Amino acid sequence: AAPDLGLTFDHSYVRELPGLYVPWQPSPAPAPRWLRFNEALAEALGLDAQRLGGPEGLAVFSGQAVPAGAQPVALAYAGHQFGGFSPQLGDGRALLLGEFIDRHGQRHDLAFKGSGPTPFARGGDGKAAVGPVLREYLISEAMQALGIPTTRVLAAVATGETIYRDRPLPGAILTRTAVSHLRVGSFQFLAARGDVDGLRRLLRYALARHDAPMAQALDGADAASIALGLLRGVMQRQAALVARWMGVGFIHGVMNTDNMTLSGETIDYGPCAFMEVHDPETVFSSIDYHGRYAYGNQPGIAQWNLARLAEALLPVMDLPAEAAVERATAVIHEYPAIYQAQWLAECRRKLGLLDTGDARGDQALADAYLQLLHRWEVDHTWGFRALAGVLRSGQPEPTAALTESFGAGSAELRPWLQRWWQRLSRQDGSLHEAADRMEAANPLVIPRNHLVEAALEAASADANLRPFEALLQAVRRPFDAGQAGTVWARPATAQQRQGYQTF
Ligand code: AMP
Ligand code: MG
Ligand code: MG
Repeated sequence: AAPDLGLTFDHSYVRELPGLYVPWQPSPAPAPRWLRFNEALAEALGLDAQRLGGPEGLAVFSGQAVPAGAQPVALAYAGHQFGGFSPQLGDGRALLLGEFIDRHGQRHDLAFKGSGPTPFARGGDGKAAVGPVLREYLISEAMQALGIPTTRVLAAVATGETIYRDRPLPGAILTRTAVSHLRVGSFQFLAARGDVDGLRRLLRYALARHDAPMAQALDGADAASIALGLLRGVMQRQAALVARWMGVGFIHGVMNTDNMTLSGETIDYGPCAFMEVHDPETVFSSIDYHGRYAYGNQPGIAQWNLARLAEALLPVMDLPAEAAVERATAVIHEYPAIYQAQWLAECRRKLGLLDTGDARGDQALADAYLQLLHRWEVDHTWGFRALAGVLRSGQPEPTAALTESFGAGSAELRPWLQRWWQRLSRQDGSLHEAADRMEAANPLVIPRNHLVEAALEAASADANLRPFEALLQAVRRPFDAGQAGTVWARPATAQQRQGYQTF
C-alpha cells in the first residue's frame, strides 16, 4: 500500500501545463539507508518530521514506495548549456512528486534527484552519487543560513547500489523542496516547438505562482505588458540573487538556462563552490574550460540568460516581430541598473554603510577594497569579516587579523581603512553599531572547499557521516562569533587550496 506521509499533495503543474512533463515512476533503491533527514526543514514547513524521518519516509525517499497522493512526473525543459542550445533536456534523473502548501501558505515542489532514468535521460544512468547529494545538502543549508534564496534538501538516502562515474561510487537519492522548478528552459522548451498556446499557459501559470500581485495589477493589460511583467519579475529576483552570491563569493559553476529558476532560488548544486582568495576569474568546475561561469562573469551571464527568456516570450507578446523585439530589448537593458543597485546594497551591507545618497562614492569605496583583496590574494570571507574588528579596535589601522592576510599589502590597506572610517563617521549611528551590522552581514564560516571534500570523501568512501555532520552544524551558524578560532572559520592554506576542482 502507498505510505501516507501526512502530506496533502496538489498537482497544479500537472493540471495546468500539459506537454511539459511525462508521468514516470522512480526506480526503487535495492538497499536504502538514511544519510540524513532534514528535521529542521520539515519543522519549518510544518511537515510531520517523525513520520517523514522514519521507516515510511525511508521507503518513499528511496523510491521504493510512491506516497499516497503523489503523481510523479519528469519535467520537460530545454536550455542553453555553456552557450549552446538543446531543445530538449528535461529531468533525466529527477521527478516531481507533487506540490504541497506549507504552514505559511507557501506552495513548494517536492522532487527527487537520482531516482532512475526517465525518457529525458539521453543515455545517462539516471542516478546520483552520495558525494554530490551530500554536497547539495551541505551547500544549500549554508546558503539558507546565509539568508540566500535556495532550494533545500529534505532527505538524502543511500540506495545500496554502486554507480559508475570515473570510478565506482555509492548511489544516493536526494529529495528537494523548491518554491517551484520553473526555469528559463521551461519557456525555451515550448518556444523551440512553436507551441504558442503552451507558452501562454506557462506565462499565466508562472505569473500566478511567482508574481501574483503583478499579475493582478496587469489584469486586462495588453499581452506584451503581461509577458514583460514576468520578465521584469524574474529579472528583479535574479539580480537580487546573483548580488547575494557575489557578496559571499558563491560560484554556481553551471549557470545554464535550465538551471536558472523563475522563482529566484538557487538551484542545481553541481560544481558550485565558494571562492576563497578573492579573484574574479575564479573557476572550480572541471568542465568550464573557458571560464564562462567564473565568479566575476555571473552578473553578466544572468543578463544573457534573461535575454534568452525574453526571446522565448516574444511569441506571446502579440506584436509584430520587430516591435516585440524592441520592447523586450528595452526591458533587458534595464538589467544593469537593477543589478548595480542590488550590488551596491550588498556592498554597503558588507561595509556597514547606510545609504546617505552617495551611490557612486560608496561603490568606488567597495570596488577599491575588492581590488585590494584581489591584489594581495586575501581570502574573500576573511577579508570582509575582519573589517568589523577594525571598528572595534577604535582606530583606522590594520588589525592583526588583517595584517596576517594582507602581509606586505597592509601599507596599501591603511589609506583605504582611513577613507572607509571617514565615510562611516559621516553617517548616523556609532561605529560599534556598524560593526554589529557587519558581523550580521559578513559570514565567519562558509563551507570551505577542503573541508567539504574531506567530509564528502569520508561519507562516500567510508560511510562515515561524522565529518559531514560537524561541518553541517558549523555552516548552519555562519555569523556566530563563537566559531572564531575554530577550524571552520580559518581560511584555507595555499596547500589546501591547491588545484581545487569540482565535477
Ligand atoms: P545539470 O547539468 O545537472 O543541470 O543537468 C543537465 C541535464 O542532464 C539535465 O537534463 C539532467 O536531467 C541531465 N542529467 C544529468 N546527469 C544525468 C544522469 N546521470 N542521468 C540522466 N540524466 C542526467
Ligand atoms: Mg540542472
Ligand atoms: Mg546538476
